Amino acid sequence: MRCVVTGGAGFLGSHLCERLLAEGHDVVAIDNLITGAVDNIAHIRDPRFSFIHYDVTKFLYLAGPVDIVFHLASPASPVDYLEFPIQTLKVGSLGTHNALGLAKEKGAKVLFASTSEVYGDPAINPQPETYHGNVSTTGMRSCYDEAKRFGEAMVMAYHRQHGIDTRIIRIFNTYGPRMRLNDGRVVPNFICQALAGEPLTVYGNGGQTRSFTFVDDTIEGMWRLAVSNEVMPVNIGNPQERTILDFAKEIIALTDSGSSIEYRPLPTDNDPQQRRPDITRARELLGWEPQVPFEVGMPRTVANFRSRLGLQT
Ligand code: UDP
Repeated sequence: MRCVVTGGAGFLGSHLCERLLAEGHDVVAIDNLITGAVDNIAHIRDPRFSFIHYDVTKFLYLAGPVDIVFHLASPASPVDYLEFPIQTLKVGSLGTHNALGLAKEKGAKVLFASTSEVYGDPAINPQPETYHGNVSTTGMRSCYDEAKRFGEAMVMAYHRQHGIDTRIIRIFNTYGPRMRLNDGRVVPNFICQALAGEPLTVYGNGGQTRSFTFVDDTIEGMWRLAVSNEVMPVNIGNPQERTILDFAKEIIALTDSGSSIEYRPLPTDNDPQQRRPDITRARELLGWEPQVPFEVGMPRTVANFRSRLGLQT
């Protein structure tokens, strides 16, 4: 296949590009590099790989055949999308429209990277795909949440009206090597703080929960969904849920750090209080479930952070 990956120089995008090449496919990565980085793909020296520096909110056209478009482009850290709210809205809406338009022109399939954020601050836990969510239309996170919700609606409209073959993956918090050191999310923040011996910044009382998935598991789920026949959304995430305060303590222990914990106000008005995927559909439709436990994935991630920070591993 000839695959297009928007956001191909990002954290997930770059791992997906490697996976697609390993599967024997050609890959065209597109990224405007506002949150992605060429460093993430600089090591890929495969003649079947190419990179285009481009903003997919602009008209998108490529010469030659395309078999599948993976539309991953978007700021994904709350810190990033609060800094770029309009670009975030544009890439989820106009960018998704362009990805679908390219796929329609080429007769290609589209996989849209959606998010657990479509559930907002969920009133039920865990969240199945049938839950319609609790999203604020005007809150600080609305630029991301509503863009992704609109993106899903656009994908379904193209599927229904134009018969495009589409997939929607709802990705839960994913961590792993190559996450940007300063992207502001809890995993990079806590690891960098613990390694520097600085206090870990727990927002709110730390009682809010998240469920962390190792990147290889997320990419495996994405690949299985891409080659399945499932059009309706599928959650991909690790159901193992922990509070942010417990997570801070685990990172301090794992890094053997002398860091303390410092409580800070919640930075956004609608920080979800709980988040945990119901992965029944992924299990039944894709035979997928996470394979990499926290105890394996997190030390690998810490080792990658150490090496990028120039610390001894
Ligand atoms: N968080 C925190 N300290 C930090 C960064 C984040 O306590 O330094 C909290 C944040 O308020 C949220 C959770 O950790 O409740 C996960 O935040 P993240 O930015 O990783 O992504 P989210 O899951 O909210 O999209």
